[in-house]
Amino acid sequence: MANWKIPLADLDIGAEEAAVVLEVLRSRWLTQGERTKEFERRFADYVGAKHAFAVANCTAALHLAYAALGLGPGDEVIMPALTFVATANTALAVGARPVFADVASVQDWTLSPEDLARRITPQTRALAVVHYAGYAADMSAIVEVARAHGLAVVEDCAHSPGAVHKGKHLGTWGDIGCFSFFSNKNMTTGEGGMVVTDRDDLAEQLRLLRSHGMTTLTWDRHRGHAYSYDVVMPGFNYRLDEIRAAIGLVQLEKLNANNARREALVRRYQTALQHVPGVGVPFAGREDTAFHIMPILLPEGVKRRAVIDSLRAQGIQTSIHYPPVHTFSYFRAHHPASLPLTEHIGERTLTLPLFPAMTDLQVTEVVEALRAALALQVAK
Ligand SMILES: *Cc1c(COP(=O)(O)O)cnc(C)c1O
Repeated sequence: MANWKIPLADLDIGAEEAAVVLEVLRSRWLTQGERTKEFERRFADYVGAKHAFAVANCTAALHLAYAALGLGPGDEVIMPALTFVATANTALAVGARPVFADVASVQDWTLSPEDLARRITPQTRALAVVHYAGYAADMSAIVEVARAHGLAVVEDCAHSPGAVHKGKHLGTWGDIGCFSFFSNKNMTTGEGGMVVTDRDDLAEQLRLLRSHGMTTLTWDRHRGHAYSYDVVMPGFNYRLDEIRAAIGLVQLEKLNANNARREALVRRYQTALQHVPGVGVPFAGREDTAFHIMPILLPEGVKRRAVIDSLRAQGIQTSIHYPPVHTFSYFRAHHPASLPLTEHIGERTLTLPLFPAMTDLQVTEVVEALRAALALQVAK
C-alpha cells in the first residue's frame, strides 16, 4: 500500500468499533439479527424515514429500489452521468434503460431539473438523483417534475448521509433513499448500505426482495417465532450482518461530529483556494450537504495528469469524481449521450483530500502544493 503523506480519505475507526465487533463474535449470532434491527431503527429515526433496511452495500440498495418500483425492460430511468457507475449499472440489472441528463451548472454539479424534464419520454418511469459530493440536488423542483409526470424518485445518497435540505434529510425527499457505508464514505461498515422509504408498499417489496422473497428469516425461526417459510416472490440475498450493523451503530453516533469537521475543513479549503488563480470551487457557501468530498475545477488548458503527478510526488493523493458514466466504452456503445457541462467538468475536475482527522495545516499544505503544481505548468 502506498504510504501517502496526505491520503484522499481516511477512516475514523477506533477502540469502540473493535469492542463491539468482539462482542458480536462472542454472541455467536453473526447474520442479520437484533443489532441489524437496532441499526435500522436508529438510522430511520436519524434521517426521519418510516422504514429502513440494512443491506450489503449501496449497489444492492439501488438494485432493490429499482426492483421494488417494478422497473424492467422498456422502462427508462433519468439520472446524471456525473456519478459512480452503480447508479446506472443497477438500472441495467433490472432491465431498464439509463438515460443521462446534464448537471445544473459549473457551480452546482447535481442533476438539472430543466435538462431532465427535456428527456422525459412515454417510457420514463423514474428519476435517480445523486447528491454529488454530499450537496443536495434541487429536490423541490425535481419532485415537482416527477409528480407532474407520475415518475418515481430514487435518491442515491451514497455521498450525503446526514445532509439536511430545507429542513428535511436527503433520502426522504423521493420515494426511496439509498445510502452507502463503503470504506471511504462519511460513515462506514467496510461494505454496507441502507435503503429507506416512507411508503409501506415499497417497504414490503424491499423487505421481501432483500431476502429471496421469504416470509420469515433465520432469526425469526431461531427465536421460535416461526418454524417454516413461504416464498412469495423471487429475490436476492442482500442482507447485512451483525458485525457490520454493530460497527454501523457506532459510526452513526460519530456521523454528526465528523460531518461538522468535514465542513470546517471545506470552509478552510474554500477560503484558501480563493487565492489560487483560475481554480473553480463548486457549491461555494452551501450548507445542505454532508461534505463528502472536496472537488475543484482546474483552470482551462492545465494538464490534469501533470497536476496529479506533481501532488503525488509530495505524498498527496487525489482522485477524479467522476469520469462521466456515458464516456465509458460500454455506455458509449449502448447509451450514448451528449452532456456538455458534465463533459466539461469530467475533463477538468480534481478531488482533493478530505477526511475528519485531516488537520488545518494539511489543508494549507495541499493548497500550496496545488498552487506550485499550477505555477509550474504556467512557467513551461
Ligand atoms: C459509493 C457509491 C455507490 C455505491 O456504493 P457501494 O456501497 O460501494 O455499493 C453508489 N453511488 C455513489 C454516488 C457512490 O459514491
